[in-house]
Amino acid sequence: MTELLPGIFEIELTSDQGVTREIHIFLIQGKPGERSLMIDTGYRKQNCLKKMEEILEKLGISFDRLDVFLTHKHHDHTGLAAVYESRGARLFMNPEENRHPYDCLYYNHERGKDSGNSQYEVLRSVGVTPEGTPEVWEMFMEIRRRVESNRGWEYEVPEFHSLPVTGGQLFSYGDYCFEAVPLRGHTYGQMGLLDRKKKLLFSGDQIIDGIVPIVGTTYEGDHLLEAYFRSLDQLMHQYGDCLLIPAHGDPIRDVRRVAERIVFSYLDKADMIKRILDHSGRKMTVREVACTAYGMRGIPEDTDEFVKLKMVMSKTFSCLEYLLDEDFVIRTERNGTYYWQSAMI
Ligand SMILES: [Zn+2]
Repeated sequence: MTELLPGIFEIELTSDQGVTREIHIFLIQGKPGERSLMIDTGYRKQNCLKKMEEILEKLGISFDRLDVFLTHKHHDHTGLAAVYESRGARLFMNPEENRHPYDCLYYNHERGKDSGNSQYEVLRSVGVTPEGTPEVWEMFMEIRRRVESNRGWEYEVPEFHSLPVTGGQLFSYGDYCFEAVPLRGHTYGQMGLLDRKKKLLFSGDQIIDGIVPIVGTTYEGDHLLEAYFRSLDQLMHQYGDCLLIPAHGDPIRDVRRVAERIVFSYLDKADMIKRILDHSGRKMTVREVACTAYGMRGIPEDTDEFVKLKMVMSKTFSCLEYLLDEDFVIRTERNGTYYWQSAMI
């Protein structure tokens, strides 16, 4: 644990699996008798929980005096949310993070929603079907069985209840007064925390130095990549003089350099995807385009490759929808599967 700024503690948690293997959790200590704030929870791992318990005790923060602000609903940020809730902590999250019952990337549990059928529909829409791609389909079904029988899956997000967060909502702890700011793109409802006076922005996974954050969705109409570009533009122009504190990697001072690199990378990828469709001259599914764009085998060989396939399909979908909005590609639908083709005649 290090004291990043007066009263703001940074804790690094690690996982031996997954794409991001470290995450920074931030604790802002309340004044005596007041509540304290934790930003994100970390992985659903025993070692992470133990470390956080020790640190909370050391700082004299009890769970019933703890608020947890969840920037977005990914496993590394919400893995322990259900545990903290059961201990009496109060959770806050933008309800838009729950707008889809099934996420191709992460496995969300959603009470009252039929995530089972949604999963079939989502997989079919990206071109993963029991008839066409039985091996890949079976990999998804195996994960589903593991989760349903409580055997665990690294990317599982156990169900929790949270209080709704909306843009502009205030969160005051210790000497800090934060305002919730929407950071759409990495996910649909991601939120950051901004202290305007102190020029400090906890930015979740919106911008990370040295990494291109995934902009992943498999739902039509999310227009996530377009929203991401708008958000990065806003970061550069409105918060360019702020210190950005991401959940992964080092704090960012030169927002413009990092944001421009990420935008360039996505435009480059979108251009490559456009050229794949231009040259193929046929209709392709998201899965086919993703495998071609990222040089992947059709059938993943191991868990790492399977996880990568899930990620690149989500990323590719976002790029394809962006190209569709810009009239570079055409989308058609047959039997629940989307087919994409070049708009060049
Ligand atoms: Zn993350």
